[in-house]
Amino acid sequence: MNSIYGYTREKLEAYFLSKGEKKFKALQVFEWLYVHKNSNVDTWSNIKKELREEIKKDFSFETPKIIREEKDTLTRKYLFELKDKEHIESVIMFHDYGISICVSSQVGCNMGCAFCESGRRKKVRNLEAYELVTQILEIEKNLNERISSVVIMGIGEPLDNYENVLSFIRIINDAKGLAIGIRHITLSTSGLVPKIYDLMKENIQINLAVSLHAPNDTIRNQIMKVNQVYNISQLMTAIKDYIAVTNRRVTIEYVMLKEINDSSKCALELATLLHGLNIYVNLIPYNETSHINLSKSDAKTIKEFAAVLKQKGINVTIRKEFGSKISAACGQLRSKEVEK
Ligand code: SF4
Repeated sequence: MNSIYGYTREKLEAYFLSKGEKKFKALQVFEWLYVHKNSNVDTWSNIKKELREEIKKDFSFETPKIIREEKDTLTRKYLFELKDKEHIESVIMFHDYGISICVSSQVGCNMGCAFCESGRRKKVRNLEAYELVTQILEIEKNLNERISSVVIMGIGEPLDNYENVLSFIRIINDAKGLAIGIRHITLSTSGLVPKIYDLMKENIQINLAVSLHAPNDTIRNQIMKVNQVYNISQLMTAIKDYIAVTNRRVTIEYVMLKEINDSSKCALELATLLHGLNIYVNLIPYNETSHINLSKSDAKTIKEFAAVLKQKGINVTIRKEFGSKISAACGQLRSKEVEK
């Protein structure tokens, strides 16, 4: 049975039309699910009893269960159990401007980035759209607060689960869904070039973040397997085309790995690669994990790297470190659960 939480409003309208009902029923259902957060169909007073029975027969209302929660001052991490007993995790961060969430898009990940805990565990399956939507819904219920921005940057490569991720974006962006502003939604990809081209045709104003993490193919080949399929030159062409078509600034993610990609020579090379583009660079201090033999660059090196970029006219920020005490590196909580 299909989960109702995986239905965009458009798809739900088609369902009601197929039942000979008016399509505004979809709007009423969205309000019950996402505004009132009420999945008890029997209490949906503006929908007649016979139709409520049909809805109960045609849809499942099941959501993934939160089975563990780890807290830090500014971060909270949730481990979810899915209906097939697989596990995924989501992290929320408290900012001055609101609460953001980082959601997972797959169970495991096949991209195999050398620095990533999630990549140690192969992809088991894609998450369905409802499993993405309900990460937000369940955490909002748990916190009794609203989440205002979303990054699709947890376990998985979102563009390798394209259709479900797109449905998810449409549902959470719907004014009668979770009403998360489109410019407050960021999709982060390791660089699946053909899918970046698909995405630019969707005409949605999300933020695109690209995990570049290296200024040349030699280094990127060492740390990101995807580079052996789509190299930096192909990726940069896709980024330029994306900016030209969407007129949106792209974020370049760059994780700072000690003595791998953090020299001033790398910074200069990166500045040359990105020169003149409507981008900004987000330098990410690496979250070390016991299973991976890579270290974080020290704070001084990161500052010097940022200074070189700035001096060359590149917009750059250093990401604030969140949650290193609570296994916040993507995939650590799930790994612990699998190893148990
Ligand atoms: S960094 Fe992202 S794309 Fe790379 S292995 Fe980890 S989850 Fe997959």
